[in-house]
Order: sequence, then C-alpha cells, then structure tokens
Amino acid sequence: MATATPWNTPATAPRSLTLGEHTVTWLPDGHVQLDPRRWLPETTAADWEGENAALLDPEGYLTASIGALLIEYRGRAMLVDAGFGPHDIPAEHTHPTLGVLVGGRLPTALESAGVKAADIELIAFSHLHDDHFGWAFRPGAGADSPFSSAVFAASADEWANWPPPRTGSPRIRGIADGEEIFPGVTAWATPGHTAGHTAYVLNAGGHRLIAFGDVFHTPAQLARPDWRVAMDALPNHGVATRRALLAELVRPRTLAFANHFSDVVFGRIAAESGTPVWQPWEENYQ
Ligand SMILES: [Zn+2]
Repeated sequence: MATATPWNTPATAPRSLTLGEHTVTWLPDGHVQLDPRRWLPETTAADWEGENAALLDPEGYLTASIGALLIEYRGRAMLVDAGFGPHDIPAEHTHPTLGVLVGGRLPTALESAGVKAADIELIAFSHLHDDHFGWAFRPGAGADSPFSSAVFAASADEWANWPPPRTGSPRIRGIADGEEIFPGVTAWATPGHTAGHTAYVLNAGGHRLIAFGDVFHTPAQLARPDWRVAMDALPNHGVATRRALLAELVRPRTLAFANHFSDVVFGRIAAESGTPVWQPWEENYQ
C-alpha cells in the first residue's frame, strides 16, 4: 500500500509565498481522485510502477487537489479559479475517469488568509469546469456567490463555449491573450484542456510564477508531455501546450503553481538530469 506523502494526499492547509510586493496563497477547497489509466489512456500499467507509484493513493488513484490561488497586492486581492463548492460526490456518481470529488473548504481557507470574499475584486478562471468555478457560480443550494463584488473573467473563447448562468451581466468579462488583468498578472492562452484554457503569469520580485491551470494534472506528465489526456477537449493542442509550457518553466527564476498537484502545488522544474522533474517549493528558493 502506498505511504501517505504530499505527493499522494490532497492539500489541506493554505500556504503562501511572497514575491516582491505580491503575496500568493493557495486556498484548498477539496480534491478529486483521477484514475491514472483512464485519465491518461496511453499509459500502461508499467508507467505507474517505479517512481510514479508514489503518486497513487491507497486506492490507486492520482490525488488532484482543488482550490483557488489568492493573489494580493497593495491591499487589493484577486483569485485564480474558485474551487468546486460545498459538494461531496461519491465515486459511483462521478465521471468514469474520476473517483470521489469533494469541495467545501475554500471559505475557511480564505478566512484564515484574512481576506473577505466580498473584497475579492476579480476571479480569473483558467477554464470553466465545475472544479474551477464552483464557489463563483454554484456555491450551494439557493445561495448567492459569496464573491459579491468580483468581476468574473475568462478568455472570450472560454465564455463562447460555455454560456454561464449570468451571461450579459456586467460582472462577466472576456480577456485576451497577453492582457494584464491585475497588477503584474498577465493572461496566457494555453488551449488543449479546453479551447479557451488560460494560464496566468505573475511577474513580481524578479520572478515569474506561472499558474498553469489544467495543462498538467500530475507531475508524471512532466516527463511525458506527449501523453494525451482523456478529458482534454483538444488533445493534440494539449500536447503542444504542454511542450510550450515546459519550455517556459525551465527558464531561470520561474516558479509554477499547479492547482491539481496533490499537496505540492507550488514548485519549479528541475531538468538537470535531462528529464523534467517537479521540485516542490521551499522557502529558500531563489
Ligand atoms: Zn481541473
């Protein structure tokens, strides 16, 4: 049986890092189990033995954390994504590629970061799947979004493919590739998982932090960006985007935020051996 480590258990506590005048904080909401052979159907049993076996939980699933990234700057605050919401779906009721799908912790995480939901001015979605917009659009039976002041932003392509409940509301905003959406935060079109999937790049304190959304779901993909993903709407675009992202991630002073990487959501790529490897963030990164 797999030993419980940060590589195969969900994030349960917020964690922050400071880059110049920006503070970024991971706010966990819940998690989802991914069936490795169904999620990545080109993999074989042998691909999940050896080092990758450490990524599997005792039931044989990859552990994908779900949550939001809080970005604070000079008293202002935005989120990238908004968790899944207070829902708890057993494995028999989720998609066949998934096991259990659970959310609910985000408000507590936000409170512990000392930020009120009403003070979030912007939520920028990587894409419009329910584990990324949950607290924004469907916070619970009959409840309004707790993010009462936030503008909801996603790429125009993403809105076009997914009519949201509040289409036409002034709170909905389409964003363009390369647009600066918040001080220091720029949108980067990364199609594949969805047509309008967008990564967000924070430039601060002499570093870049790339919040890459669902371009990668598990560190096992870093060495094999060519593995197509069953849940990618555009699987071949997904391969090209993973290669393009890897080329950026190996550049100096580049960190990454990987929202689905179990309890190792902040990190960088180490490629000294020639194979890209996820190196979880440590406080002394430079
Ligand atoms: Zn996702």
